[in-house]
Amino acid sequence: ERGFLKVPKDFSKSVALYEEALKIIPGGVNSPVRAFKSVGLNPVFISRGEGAHIYDADGNSYIDYVGSWGPLILGHRHPHVIEALERCLREVGTSFGAPTELENILAAMVVEAVHSIDMVRLVNSGTEATMSALRLARGYTGRNKIVKFEGCYHGHADFLLIKAGSGALTLGTPTSPGIPPGSAVNTIIANYNDLDGLNEIFKLEGEDIAAVIVEPVTGNMGVIPPAPGFLEGLRNLTSTYGSLLIFDEVMTGFRVAYGGAQQLYGITPDLTCLGKIIGGGLPVGAYGGKREIMERVSPSGPVYQAGTLSGNPLAVTAGIATLEIIRQPGVYEQLEQSSQALASGLAEAAGEAGAEVCLNRVGSMLCCFFTGQDVKDYASACTSNTAQYAAFFKAMLEQGVYLAPSQFEAAFMSLVHGDGEIDETVEAARHSFKTAME
Ligand code: PLP
Repeated sequence: ERGFLKVPKDFSKSVALYEEALKIIPGGVNSPVRAFKSVGLNPVFISRGEGAHIYDADGNSYIDYVGSWGPLILGHRHPHVIEALERCLREVGTSFGAPTELENILAAMVVEAVHSIDMVRLVNSGTEATMSALRLARGYTGRNKIVKFEGCYHGHADFLLIKAGSGALTLGTPTSPGIPPGSAVNTIIANYNDLDGLNEIFKLEGEDIAAVIVEPVTGNMGVIPPAPGFLEGLRNLTSTYGSLLIFDEVMTGFRVAYGGAQQLYGITPDLTCLGKIIGGGLPVGAYGGKREIMERVSPSGPVYQAGTLSGNPLAVTAGIATLEIIRQPGVYEQLEQSSQALASGLAEAAGEAGAEVCLNRVGSMLCCFFTGQDVKDYASACTSNTAQYAAFFKAMLEQGVYLAPSQFEAAFMSLVHGDGEIDETVEAARHSFKTAME
């Protein structure tokens, strides 16, 4: 019996922690979307996670669809990951700043999994991966300009934080102050899923374009799949003009398929950025690609890039342990099945409540846009009714379902989200869609 519907949750400890945090951490959080601003609430402070569930400081439990924003494809504290980390702490250490065999193992797993990657460099975050990949693209081609798509998010480097998605979009300031105009002059903005527009850009500036960077499936303006032919078009256009194609698979890598979106759609980019899942919940990023290009990275080549904690043994261990599980047969079939069940349950619940939604899903990434339009780019994503999303989010939270605190983010399924969690989520959604429509 869903008795808690009648009893509002107690969030008092979270409120107290948030007030404390506000005094010493800007906005009370260490990354903007965590603050729940776009849904008009205070954030809940998490005390622990277990499988598909997280628990807040007041002891409330939630089914977690954020999964640390993507990394936790095995759910929280998967025994295989925990055991590997414990062994690493006991027998190896925390950091050396010298090469370890562990790095070879993770690099080999990435090279084996991602068909376009011959060589890979490990870094500490997705932001570092995209910054470094673009420096390499510029160093390799000797050109300065890059193309990014409106609403795509590639981390917070100056020249990429222009018309960006994720927290930047959520807060309504997709371009940040503090970025000198000079940083932006070489960034050209295009529309996602619009090949004609991109053709025009290349006709005018193609000879100066070092690279096109794209989320092959977007997650940072909500989930938007590439239109048929879009990624092929990007591949052809960049090849024609001698520009590099960079897939930012920080979110989609090992998520939509073991080999990422490039496996799912059969496209071979020149460079790929990774993060999230390859760190198994610890800070890791990576960029890799064709040998000829990667050999330009220092110290084998002149393009400088470095990191005190890069290839950190604990982070690499969590990544290896995660990949060991998800490379097993049947994993992505299971994720597809459970995600499909969740999506159809949500669509049915929305229909019952008379809510107009567009449910986009690619594998275990899904997004329920509160709009009657087909969401295929930034402009159509922006037709979403964010007030309705906020009401929906709040009602779900009250019923123990933790979604991303913004309309423009993905929900992530994990391998430990089973039928029980799905049923409970759909049941909560029946009520929440009705609340959102009031
Ligand atoms: N690229 C994509 C596609 C992302 O989704 C993100 C983060 O959400 C990043 C880059 C930046 O990664 P990080 O937050 O690890 O710096």
